[in-house]
Amino acid sequence: MGHHLLHLNLTIISPSASFKSSNSLFPCNHPQIPTNSFHLPSLSKSSVHKISWIQKLPRIATATIKCSAKIENSSAAAKEKSVSVILLAGGKGKRMGASMPKQYLPLLGQPIALYSFYTFSKMIEVKEIVVVCDPSYQDIFEDAKENINVDLKFALPGKERQDSVYSGLHEVDLNSELVCVHDSARPLVSSADVKKVIEDAWINGAAVLGVPAKATIKEANSESFVVRTLDRKTLWEMQTPQVIKPDLLKKGFELVNRDGLEVTDDVSIVEHLKHPVYITEGSYTNIKVTTPDDLLLAERILNLNSEESSK
Ligand code: C5P
Repeated sequence: MGHHLLHLNLTIISPSASFKSSNSLFPCNHPQIPTNSFHLPSLSKSSVHKISWIQKLPRIATATIKCSAKIENSSAAAKEKSVSVILLAGGKGKRMGASMPKQYLPLLGQPIALYSFYTFSKMIEVKEIVVVCDPSYQDIFEDAKENINVDLKFALPGKERQDSVYSGLHEVDLNSELVCVHDSARPLVSSADVKKVIEDAWINGAAVLGVPAKATIKEANSESFVVRTLDRKTLWEMQTPQVIKPDLLKKGFELVNRDGLEVTDDVSIVEHLKHPVYITEGSYTNIKVTTPDDLLLAERILNLNSEESSK
């Protein structure tokens, strides 16, 4: 990676105003501050770590911070056709109570899994999509193939989600620089958020979309009594995509398989290697469709989006 020169200028403008970053957590209409003040995808890893505290501050901040950065010789953006997507569509989705897995149910007339499939297929960074699904559902994606401009591959699902990721990983092009694992049950992920998490993974090796927890979360004991209340300011709800350098993911799987470790998501495989994982702030609308209520909510969000774009 080339040498980056960073000029970072932090100025406290008003102790009573909230501050602004690319992070939508910080409501502020101060005209002097560009919306992208803190979105610095081309910084070196150490520079990004230095400012990461700014992005993770509590929702109600007490100062306006002005930040400008000038980057020379930036080369940290992911290259064209350098990303392999593993699109997970191998689950049974029993909680939906439908006759077919939830990711194939129609959402405004189109199977849920095709929404993110099309979103990824339009991104210049994406080289290929490896769909992990039961062979009886492959034709849904085969039929969409003529509309897309990326390679389409298939892999067989495994028993658990992680087995499906492992199966998809075997099909990934060896030259790919990043693997982007996405739950097909999240149809509403935006290409802007995918771009952000890809850039953060390119810089940090591993990044995941997440949103700050809205709910108060308590830890309970086995008798359902509260043990403690967790500090909400430090809690993030994880989404997908989870984007990881392929070598890191392979090493993580080797460790997890060898030591029989428990993993709940893709980046926790990397956490077992003690490698840092960056949380890229995503959007609350990137919901996972799990129950019939979620399907109604997804329809509503899509209708609102189309109303907005037709204005
Ligand atoms: O069941 P859950 O909602 O956690 O599944 C998340 C995603 O992983 C879904 O898109 C589902 O299709 C996929 N999955 C899979 N293989 C499994 C289990 C889940 O591809 N064995």
